[in-house]
Amino acid sequence: MECSGGCGHPLTEQLLMKCYYCKLGYHSECLNINPQQYKTLSKDYLASWQCPSCCNLTRRRKGNRENTPVRNSVIPSAEETKTSPKLSEHQATHPEFELRSFTNNLQNMLQTWRKEIDDSLNRISGDIKSALSEVQLEMQSLRTEQANLKSGLASVTKDITELQSSAQFQSEEHAHIEKKVRELEEFKNIKTTPWSSRRGSAIL
Ligand SMILES: [Zn+2]
Ligand SMILES: [Zn+2]
Repeated sequence: MECSGGCGHPLTEQLLMKCYYCKLGYHSECLNINPQQYKTLSKDYLASWQCPSCCNLTRRRKGNRENTPVRNSVIPSAEETKTSPKLSEHQATHPEFELRSFTNNLQNMLQTWRKEIDDSLNRISGDIKSALSEVQLEMQSLRTEQANLKSGLASVTKDITELQSSAQFQSEEHAHIEKKVRELEEFKNIKTTPWSSRRGSAIL
């Protein structure tokens, strides 16, 4: 928001004067109020402060025809800063003022509703987010379990392959030993059989 004092610079929260009626903001320095003077302004005074344009409007309604430019804003007296300006009967009953306060009330109400809607939307999206993250966690643990099962299966397959190859080796060994035993038995037969019978058996 730009300063309504016409300086062309954006407004800052510091040393800000905000009109109670039109909600426009001014640099206090653009209203010829220096920081020392600003510090002396009470909260109540700032909360109900009227900008020069709105002041003029009120004054004109009261019959004061002078057109005070923004720059000529009067620094409030010490007395004025202590007490917030009371609404005159004229202001309170004026239809324009009533319309303004009605609009303000409406704006406040809308703001409250918007905040409530935002809050509940935030809550809902928070619920959805936490539910999603729970699902994600579950998916992750399922994936881990699947990976564990896969690696378990792989190690079992490896064990089976090893067992198969060792069984094959053992059967080869077995065959080898059997062959050796047969050879030894044949050798023994040759040694223990006399030549005559050996010849006889050869004839047979
Ligand atoms: Zn300014
Ligand atoms: Zn104003």
